[in-house]
Amino acid sequence: MKGKLILVVGPTGSGKGTLLSYLRETEGASYVFPISCTTRAPRPGEKDGGTYYFLTKEEFEKREAAGEFLEWAAYGSNYYGTLKSEILPYIEQGKTVIREVEVQGARQIQTLLSNDDLQIIFIDAGEWADLERRILARASMTEAELLARRKRYEDELTFKGEAARVVANPDGGLEQAKIDFIQAVHELAAQ
Ligand code: 5GP
Repeated sequence: MKGKLILVVGPTGSGKGTLLSYLRETEGASYVFPISCTTRAPRPGEKDGGTYYFLTKEEFEKREAAGEFLEWAAYGSNYYGTLKSEILPYIEQGKTVIREVEVQGARQIQTLLSNDDLQIIFIDAGEWADLERRILARASMTEAELLARRKRYEDELTFKGEAARVVANPDGGLEQAKIDFIQAVHELAAQ
């Protein structure tokens, strides 16, 4: 049986990373969690080879030129990219691969994989004002970066109508969101 890629999409601060960490803690052995590349600096507690490989811009561009990325995107002033080697062999092996990406990456992957191989879960955290509060609580950010994220927020909302599942994660709703997220993953992995 062929596997599939489940993309987790949603505005920054919507809780994609938290829900993925929860899935990893509770059912990590059942899924593949590919490591992406980024040029942004690690946040406190983030290790190289955890969620990301932290690269310089030059290293990233070299790997891009070598055709190593399934997709990549500039987000704020940094690059993010998923590695073919972290995803494609596992789909071929029949595994379910789960990764969060921003909207440009998701659009690229939609053109590369068939509808059978790709499913999207959208995480809906509500209004921009709520998200802004969450983002600033998590990491300091310049005004320009914040503005760029707000613009992206509008773009990311367009995925809500296209996603196979929408998981609501409003303020104070994380416990229910975890249950709904796990349920959505189970359903999509079984399709
Ligand atoms: P953060 O800097 O908060 O970890 O991530 C910023 C944005 O980049 C988030 O929306 C996250 O989902 C997205 N992202 C993480 N990894 C990848 C990737 O491999 N490719 C793309 N296109 N976006 C990614």
